[in-house]
Amino acid sequence: MDFFDRLGDRLIEVGREVSDRAKDVSDSTRMQYEIRKKKQELDDAYKVLGKRYFEENKDSADDEITLIRETLAEIEDMEAQVAGLKGGRRCPKCGAVVPMDSGYCNKCGAKLEESIFEDEDAKEPKSTEESKTSDETED
Ligand SMILES: [Zn+2]
Repeated sequence: MDFFDRLGDRLIEVGREVSDRAKDVSDSTRMQYEIRKKKQELDDAYKVLGKRYFEENKDSADDEITLIRETLAEIEDMEAQVAGLKGGRRCPKCGAVVPMDSGYCNKCGAKLEESIFEDEDAKEPKSTEESKTSDETED
């Protein structure tokens, strides 16, 4: 049984080394997590800063600003197409795409007149009120 005693001691020893190493590993894992978190915070701050810079330098010929400007225009265009497919419409005041059932522009707040519906000829005639017959039959 001497062998097993020694083996047992050795195992305890190894166990300690492993747990020490595990502690180091968990420390460095935690550090790496912290580093990632800090880098993410940094990225977020850069984004906010970049957006602010863009707002202040919209007309610059800078490559990135031009790219952002063009991309925004493309997105707006695509959104208009999608909204068109979904039955959206453009705000006459600011050009933003607004859902068909919205009474106000969600970008500039302009009231959207009924007349905007003019080009929509496939509009269903309102029949909800008319088709409803009087149920006031008292016996
Ligand atoms: Zn608008």
